[in-house]
Amino acid sequence: MKYQDEYRDPELAGRIIRAIGERSRTAARLMEICGTHTMAIFRAGIRSVLPETITLISGPGCPVCVTAAEDIDRAVALCRQPGVIVATFGDLMRVPGSESSLNREKARGADVRVVYAGFDALEIARQNPQRRVVMVGIGFETTAPTIAATVRQANREGLQNFFLLSAHKLLPPAMEVLLAAEDVHIDGFLCPGHVTTIIGIEPYRKVAQQYGKPCVVSGFEPVDILQSIYMLISQVESGESEVEIQYSRAVNSEGNERARKLMAEVFDTVDASWRGLGSIPGSGLRLKRDFREHDAELHFDLEVPTVRQHPGCRCGEVLRGSCTPVDCPLFRSSCTPSNPYGPCMVSSEGTCAAYYQYHGV
Ligand code: SF4
Repeated sequence: MKYQDEYRDPELAGRIIRAIGERSRTAARLMEICGTHTMAIFRAGIRSVLPETITLISGPGCPVCVTAAEDIDRAVALCRQPGVIVATFGDLMRVPGSESSLNREKARGADVRVVYAGFDALEIARQNPQRRVVMVGIGFETTAPTIAATVRQANREGLQNFFLLSAHKLLPPAMEVLLAAEDVHIDGFLCPGHVTTIIGIEPYRKVAQQYGKPCVVSGFEPVDILQSIYMLISQVESGESEVEIQYSRAVNSEGNERARKLMAEVFDTVDASWRGLGSIPGSGLRLKRDFREHDAELHFDLEVPTVRQHPGCRCGEVLRGSCTPVDCPLFRSSCTPSNPYGPCMVSSEGTCAAYYQYHGV
């Protein structure tokens, strides 16, 4: 398949691996921010073919993993309210909150439905005019525009039984928080291709220019990732810090202005609580006043008790890149994909799930 086979070519991959080995002299810790990259890196065995000078660390780019426990608790509180249908993406179902999960509530009789897109939730609202349907929205800049389009459509149709509980997040503010953290050292970022198709490269310029950290926007096939690593270490070796695009077949520097306009029409930027990173100014999205009739926070009692998390779970540190899953004493022993203690083991893009599946294989 064009644009896929050539990026899985073992011979080409081998040449890039040799080039990386020849070029890399300085120790470099490179963070792949995005969970899709984490999985792709493990699946292709990329960590095992890199020289000792290069350490790849996983970042907070898995939307399920960074959803704060209090947001899970609020979703659980929602589905316990009479006449409510909660709709959300599949991975969120199993994420443990303080004392329950959406999956557990569904087993107890709550009406919780897995959807693949916001418009599926809209259809549920159309078909159930006597019920209140709440979409629990998670995801980064790639998902937010489609959720914005969903809310706008609900508004145009006058669907008064459709609501959004927004736990959407913006990635660039989280990168800055990581760079300011004392317990995390990062020499460069492998930036997510899909997010960049929306935001363009401008948000990374501050990271490159102010913090002096190279950024390369990467695709998701093995050759994409290896080439991006080569581009990053070339900058590290030459003391440069620029924003470069490896994934040029899908990404341009401007991003998608139409999608950003849609987001700006529907959402205000607000502070948001991230698992592992705490509250980050300007990193969340909440519906604007014009759409408040669809804002679940204004129409439902979402007061939840103080959040409790499993005391041994180190998801927060894993998401910051300050430890790896194998540093967690619960990893594999009691925390497994079939019995997850934290979201990093639940999500198909979670770092703990990736280590469980591939580490030591
Ligand atoms: S292995 Fe399990 S308990 Fe440990 S950090 Fe990962 S999700 Fe949390």
